[in-house]
Amino acid sequence: MDDPSQPDPHGFKRRGVLFVLSSPSGAGKSTIARKLLANDPHLCMSVSATTRAMRPGEIDGKDYHFVSLERFREMTAAHEFLEWAHVFDERYGTPRAPVDEMLGAGKDVLFDIDWQGAQQLYQIAGGDVVRVFILPPSMEELHQRLLKRATDSTEIIDRRMSRAANEVSHWDGYDYVLVNDDVEECFQQVRTILSAERLKRSRQTGLIGFIRKLRRAG
Ligand code: 5GP
Repeated sequence: MDDPSQPDPHGFKRRGVLFVLSSPSGAGKSTIARKLLANDPHLCMSVSATTRAMRPGEIDGKDYHFVSLERFREMTAAHEFLEWAHVFDERYGTPRAPVDEMLGAGKDVLFDIDWQGAQQLYQIAGGDVVRVFILPPSMEELHQRLLKRATDSTEIIDRRMSRAANEVSHWDGYDYVLVNDDVEECFQQVRTILSAERLKRSRQTGLIGFIRKLRRAG
């Protein structure tokens, strides 16, 4: 298989991939996102802004930009978000400027956003978005994972579980749907999807010049 850290194995210029990973909380999406980023210098993370409280171990500016409701409202009013949504009674949004910058620098951008964000991004980008949905092997397994994570209260875990069923009902708004039975296997599948999407003809804007050269030489 091609080395996924080489976005354009033949050196063609191409349009960056907007790569959305969604899943119910606890289905393993964050682990997979971390593994993707660690192995791939051409992929950058879009860091969302949120009004929710920081969890133990989270870093402001890395996991999220943790902002007050007032600041979030200011950002919304100033059109600073590409998309934003209410999730668990809190607000989450994708800051626009860093995404423009990353794409301008020739990078692909990874978004950890929910189905509402995936839908909005799809509209904004005229459909040029790769949407991947990760399912847990079962609801029971999801519950166990949230309990093991031990970062949320029982009340929040119960709310996350009831929201998970709603999240899963939006599976048909995605291009790829995977089951995270085994995190390594699921990671490899996501990496394969990214590699294939990078090679799509429509994204390889520099391909036409190469084809011309081949035809002239032929
Ligand atoms: P958590 O609070 O567990 O970090 O995230 C809760 C949910 O919010 C997850 O499904 C996550 O994908 C989603 N989310 C995080 N950032 C954004 C964002 O910028 N926009 C949208 N629409 N959803 C987000």
